[in-house]
Amino acid sequence: MKLDVLDAEKTWYQEGLQFTCSQCGNCCTGGPGYVWISKEEIVRLAEYLKITPEETVEKYCRKVAGQFSLKENRDPATGNYDCVFLTTEPAARGAGDKVVQSKRGCSIYPVRPLQCRTWPFWSENLANESNWNRAAKRCHGMNHGRKFTIEKIHALRDAKDWPDNPPTSAPKSK
Ligand code: SF4
Ligand code: SF4
Repeated sequence: MKLDVLDAEKTWYQEGLQFTCSQCGNCCTGGPGYVWISKEEIVRLAEYLKITPEETVEKYCRKVAGQFSLKENRDPATGNYDCVFLTTEPAARGAGDKVVQSKRGCSIYPVRPLQCRTWPFWSENLANESNWNRAAKRCHGMNHGRKFTIEKIHALRDAKDWPDNPPTSAPKSK
């Protein structure tokens, strides 16, 4: 407990950080990367998809250094590597033919892996302010909206299983 207090005194985000997801989908695409998924999460995903865990691995996962990561699809138009579960709603046109930006989402949202649930409160983003602000250039939800206390940030950073009320869910009404 004493050490927690000392740690908290050292952080650059002592007063908390803001984040509200705008559903731009940037964190689910981009350069090649990894979305790690545990065996327990594969079982939950399989139940959600109503297929077996073996089929889930076969269709949606790849094995990297003894762990599982979700597959990616390369978008030929952009060259980006999209998570296999990334969805895009077609762009709609608003009044006066004003183009409304398309929204992207996650087709397995209720069972998305821990890694997706704890963004952006990852150790690498929290290591220093410049890392945080570099990540915020692609994730426009960072530094906006809902305020997270240092205690909540650390609970998310250190989570080993799905946290209640994860940051990328809609804020609960009070
Ligand atoms: S599982 Fe969902 S939230 Fe996670 S990277 Fe894929 S599309 Fe994004
Ligand atoms: S977490 Fe950030 S990058 Fe990902 S969809 Fe939300 S606002 Fe966009």
